[in-house]
Amino acid sequence: MIEDFTIKRIKDAASIVDVVGEFYSLRKSGTEYECLCPFHQDRHMGSFKVSPRKNIYTCFSCGETGGPVDFLMKHENLTFPDAIRWLGKKYGIEVEGSEQFTVKPSAPHTPSPPLPLLQLPPAMVKRTRDISNDNLCNWLRSIKWDGAQRARIDKVLNAYMVGHSKDGLTVFWNIDEGGIIRTGKMMKYKPDGHRDKDSIGNFGWIHSRLFKAGKFDGEQWDVKKTLYGMHLLNLAKHATINIVESEKTALFMSICYGGMARNLWMASGGKSNLSREKLKPLIEQRRDIFLYPDHDGIEEWKEQAKLINYPNLYVKTDIDKEYWRPEDGEKADIADILFRIIQGNERVESTKVVGDVLEEMAKENTALQQLIDTFELEKI
Ligand SMILES: [Zn+2]
Repeated sequence: MIEDFTIKRIKDAASIVDVVGEFYSLRKSGTEYECLCPFHQDRHMGSFKVSPRKNIYTCFSCGETGGPVDFLMKHENLTFPDAIRWLGKKYGIEVEGSEQFTVKPSAPHTPSPPLPLLQLPPAMVKRTRDISNDNLCNWLRSIKWDGAQRARIDKVLNAYMVGHSKDGLTVFWNIDEGGIIRTGKMMKYKPDGHRDKDSIGNFGWIHSRLFKAGKFDGEQWDVKKTLYGMHLLNLAKHATINIVESEKTALFMSICYGGMARNLWMASGGKSNLSREKLKPLIEQRRDIFLYPDHDGIEEWKEQAKLINYPNLYVKTDIDKEYWRPEDGEKADIADILFRIIQGNERVESTKVVGDVLEEMAKENTALQQLIDTFELEKI
């Protein structure tokens, strides 16, 4: 019989990161850690998370979750008292009846070999490039832009290779800095530029569709998403990188301000999708990075920026601070705010298109020329 206060002491001392870390090497991911899930046949990083803050592990694939004691009972097949004794030994806390208890060596864990990165063929992107009936693209065309902004619409839609699926969804191709097509995100928009969240099948990923259709075996490929717009990184070698949450906003801002050679817009694709891992190509190139959080995401991105801890990373809230109005709503982002201003005929300063960036940059790098040719990219 182990005393309650001993159990409490041990539970207070036990760290889930330490315990899981005894068996697996953990990789940092945002505020959490991850490894392959030991409780199901896991071949993709990302579903098994270890949270130091909550002191629990959770697998979003198989649903296993719990604290340090649960992990040991399940993973090492220990009774509750033995799990407590195991932790007592680890943390140097004496437990009654532990004299005969020895930590059994656990079965050796053989990690699965890493899966190859899913790479989709450029032809797949090309097949989606008829955007004449795309609601989001047509909404972007309908805005009261000034002349310089209007002249940029097609260039921007081409540069980002915006697509349109057969079933009427806008396709945001997810392409990395080397031109590898990782996957595509599909979302349905209404003619007014808002998401159509009510109709069936209004959201999806290209890779999931391909896996479902049996065109690729989902168990054999690793899908790694990048920031939206990452393929333009090496085409604008000296650009400051501006990151917003939504793909639509990245397109809107590129049209609004232009000058992609100096100011490149990328999207995280979600509030929680910002991590050092995602920013890696930008950090390696020592780029200046500006984060433009949604109105309701300012605190979260400020926290995240602290964790990412990169000296050239800044959170920009000036547009929000100066122009946000309650009528824009808590979830408004800078594009929503600027859209209201533009439609209301208030002027927003727009910078001129800066040179033929693609042409300039391609001179430096023939691989980029290939990328441009492959996708029939027009000059930015
Ligand atoms: Zn699992």
